[in-house]
Amino acid sequence: MEIYLDANATTPVLAQAAQAALQAMADDFGNPSSVHSTGLKARALMDAARERARALLHTGGGQLLFVSGATEGIQTAVLSALHALLARRQAGDNTAELLLYGATEHKAVPEALKHWNQILGLNLQIAAIPVDREGHHDLDFLLREAPRAGLVCTMAANNETGVISDLAGIEATLQRSGSRAFWMVDGVQALGKIPLQLAQTRIDYAPFSGHKLYAPKGIGLLYVREGAPFTPLMAGGGQEGSRRSGTENMSGIAALGAVLAALEDGVSFRDHATLHAFRARLAEALEEAFPGLVYNAPLDQTLPTTLNFAVPGLSSRLLQDLFDAAELRISGGSACSAAKAQPSFVLQAMGLPDWQAAGAVRLSIGPAVDEAFIKEACARIRACGESLRQNCLSPQDNQPTLGEGITRFALDGACCYLLADAASQRCVLIDPLPEQLPRLIQTLQCQAYPLLAVLSTQGSGLHAEARQALAEELGEALFPQTEIDALGWPVQMSELQLGAKCLRRLPLQGGRQQGLVLSEAGRDLLLFGEPGAECAELACLCAPALDAGAQFVRRLNQALAPKPLSERLLPGAQLQAFVQAHPEALVIDVREPYEQFLSHTPPLWGATLQAVPLSRLLNALPAWLTQPEQPLLFFCRSGNRSRQAAAALASLGHSQAWSLNGGLALLPAFATEDPALMV
Ligand code: PLP
Repeated sequence: MEIYLDANATTPVLAQAAQAALQAMADDFGNPSSVHSTGLKARALMDAARERARALLHTGGGQLLFVSGATEGIQTAVLSALHALLARRQAGDNTAELLLYGATEHKAVPEALKHWNQILGLNLQIAAIPVDREGHHDLDFLLREAPRAGLVCTMAANNETGVISDLAGIEATLQRSGSRAFWMVDGVQALGKIPLQLAQTRIDYAPFSGHKLYAPKGIGLLYVREGAPFTPLMAGGGQEGSRRSGTENMSGIAALGAVLAALEDGVSFRDHATLHAFRARLAEALEEAFPGLVYNAPLDQTLPTTLNFAVPGLSSRLLQDLFDAAELRISGGSACSAAKAQPSFVLQAMGLPDWQAAGAVRLSIGPAVDEAFIKEACARIRACGESLRQNCLSPQDNQPTLGEGITRFALDGACCYLLADAASQRCVLIDPLPEQLPRLIQTLQCQAYPLLAVLSTQGSGLHAEARQALAEELGEALFPQTEIDALGWPVQMSELQLGAKCLRRLPLQGGRQQGLVLSEAGRDLLLFGEPGAECAELACLCAPALDAGAQFVRRLNQALAPKPLSERLLPGAQLQAFVQAHPEALVIDVREPYEQFLSHTPPLWGATLQAVPLSRLLNALPAWLTQPEQPLLFFCRSGNRSRQAAAALASLGHSQAWSLNGGLALLPAFATEDPALMV
């Protein structure tokens, strides 16, 4: 069962809201503009939902419009304010020079400002109000700039960090500055979590979104203060008092009405104290699982439903894969930037160090969660910590691990390889980079085999720098000092023995570079480095130093190579038919061991399962290539890594290299008792 911890991105629909939506579609489906009884029923439903929202938000004499969501509400508010500023300018009033928005606003706000500023030809300057280290607006800046501002946009609570804005402080500052600026407050993350008394403030516009509070997507609200200027975004049939034309989204309104009713019933949602206690338990589990964890915003100043943190040495990507394997859905930074894996602009605006802004993950709950949910979430978070310790990725208390074979560490296309032999307890490192050192040191310490050499195939100064740092960090026991040449090769040795395998070098580029050939029983297995034509006679594959295209290996002699093919994509719905039609198929899990430790195995209907993490693909790949017709079906979490593995094999001529399209994420739910989750 999945545990959904991404409520700031969106929430599931509350059961009673779904029921209300269904009823509005099936039975009470009228158009609220119709004057017959079916229409009158729809209007009554809409009026009741609006009244509930008015009472919750204390809207006084202001308007409360149903819109499609916060993005539409923001457009309408910005258009209204800017249109009024245009009218002021046309009347000879040029006091507005600036449009201000909080530096941590949702992108919908600055983008709407840019858009409407340009469309209306206002060409006002648009500037961000800086925030401090804790995410709070710089009120001195606001005091200075507000007199020149025509519109000020600030959010009630931040979607990434949960930081609650000091709205009273902002209001007092606007007052003190004598500013005539309009004020928009994005209330999306505050709805149902922070009490708002809108009519008692000078807030002119406040957009809200239903899908952040258990209503479906496509319904939202816009508050407009009594007397605030208004320009409709949509003209047409005159619905919503001609402020927002278009037949109303009645199923969305019915669902939102049911959510608002649930807020009043005292049982559907948890109160503040309970949410605080729930979050404290999640925080305790996180701190136990990830020693050294840092919060990206002080917990006492954030919504009790949000935790944003980073863990030194663990990337946001790794944490997301890890949580996902435990069926805990979290997000990296904000939902819209998650796919791009860029540092969070919100955390950058707060001045947090780069590693924290780039490594941030967000865990957010909705107020409808219960005790059993939190208990299960905490158990799974602890299981994530256990997986890290078992797989040498925890900042503390890692278990010793057995190193065997080739592990590839890729960083922006540059590849480092660790070659280890468990029987003789020795290892060799090829082409390490300084940025990879924390992970490499951890791995080498967990495995505890002495390094025979740290070699560079390219003669790069970065490899030498990493070698020096490893010597200092690992000490004599793990990195015995020997006399080496410029590429790290021990001068006394002609070959490096790794159990039954041995490594020899091939000088390249007049000795400035080297190829490293791994062989066993007189047979060459792999060449590491970037060889030229001089290596074409070698019968083995090459593991390159640079592999931006994720090929994994290349053929040295293209003339002898079979025709490159394309990988094949298998839809999840065809998995059963595939394994039943190909009993000889190998089904290969390319997720990393820290994910495999936590995760269920999909039902395989008797097919043979192999676990070969993508980082260890080179160990299995040569053998797979000897049987180019044996079906190989790779799978991972989302279908990305499995596609890389299948494409690598297909490009080497394997005709039956398949990837499970969309990965485990798109497979119909499969449940097993998993001991790893009982930790
Ligand atoms: N404002 C904030 C603070 C948000 O979190 C979001 C959604 O991510 C939006 C605006 C946009 O809301 P909607 O999806 O309803 O357009």
